Amino acid sequence: MKSWIYGIGSKLNLIATDAIAPEDKPAATERNADDLAVKIKKCLITPTDIVNLEDNKYVGLTTGSGAVGVISEDVQENLSYKFAKAMRVYITPYRPCDECVFCKKGSKNMCADLKIAGEDYDGYLTEFCAVNAREVYPIPDGISDNDALFIETVSLALTIIDRMNIQKGEHVAIIGANNLGLILAQLLRYYQNIPIVIDNNPERLAAATACGIYYTVASEKDAQKEVSNITGGRMASQVVYIQESRIPLKTAFLIAGFNANVAITGSTNVSSAVSFAPAIKKELKIQFVNTGYGNVMASINLIVNKAVDFSKLFYTEVKFNDCGTYFDETMKKDMEGLDISDAIVKMNDV
Ligand SMILES: [Zn+2]
Repeated sequence: MKSWIYGIGSKLNLIATDAIAPEDKPAATERNADDLAVKIKKCLITPTDIVNLEDNKYVGLTTGSGAVGVISEDVQENLSYKFAKAMRVYITPYRPCDECVFCKKGSKNMCADLKIAGEDYDGYLTEFCAVNAREVYPIPDGISDNDALFIETVSLALTIIDRMNIQKGEHVAIIGANNLGLILAQLLRYYQNIPIVIDNNPERLAAATACGIYYTVASEKDAQKEVSNITGGRMASQVVYIQESRIPLKTAFLIAGFNANVAITGSTNVSSAVSFAPAIKKELKIQFVNTGYGNVMASINLIVNKAVDFSKLFYTEVKFNDCGTYFDETMKKDMEGLDISDAIVKMNDV
């Protein structure tokens, strides 16, 4: 069984994981007796996985976010009535800690120390894995493997919408038309809000238009003026800032109305100094959103109901054996300041 593992010196290595001595494996890889055995079909690689390799983090752990696979062993009947051998499943990349006060109370959705695949335990860029049944969801027939890989992105978009408490008909500015931005804009439209998508990348903005988004702004320089025109001078009462947009955070403050909500999400390793003066002047309510944990079932239902069109998303398809080259090249692009996207890795026999 082979897995792509973070090595020292920002190198991703293909390693036969069953050949590693148990004492040399990270504790997080231990298998429990009631875990489901899953043969991976496809795995999602996000810009976060690339940034993690750049930062030389998580050496020894398998990379890879969510995955689609097939249950490869008989399932003990007393364990999980809803699973069976050969069933197609989605594996979510999050795991509650089981130790914090919220987990112990049974409110795992509020876990204070949520664990992330590829960062706190092994990710899913591997041929086979053993997963706790609570991290595994059957995929309805109407959802393709590729679309299923974006369940977590839909969940994150839903969490953002929930947290910001967006009301029907509100203008919501989205800075960044990456896959999260495109999915979020479509969901906002589905819920009868008015998304305004801002991105300096013309290709990404064209994708937003193709997804049916009416208001797009083609440059951060015009954002303040254009958002003012679109909102009749009121500015955006809700702003979502996606770090991968590479647009300065101050743009989010400039386009926000008085006392507006600003949600910051997405990963980057670019640190930048920012003045909070405009945010303080407008008394903005700033919050950070990291995961869509807890929204997987709701996301699956939305996808089945065709609330999101995935056909305009940006991703590369990569073969499992070529992942080392893919990570090297994408890391270089990111360091040169170019936009990078998700990748879908197909196992060799898919
Ligand atoms: Zn917890």
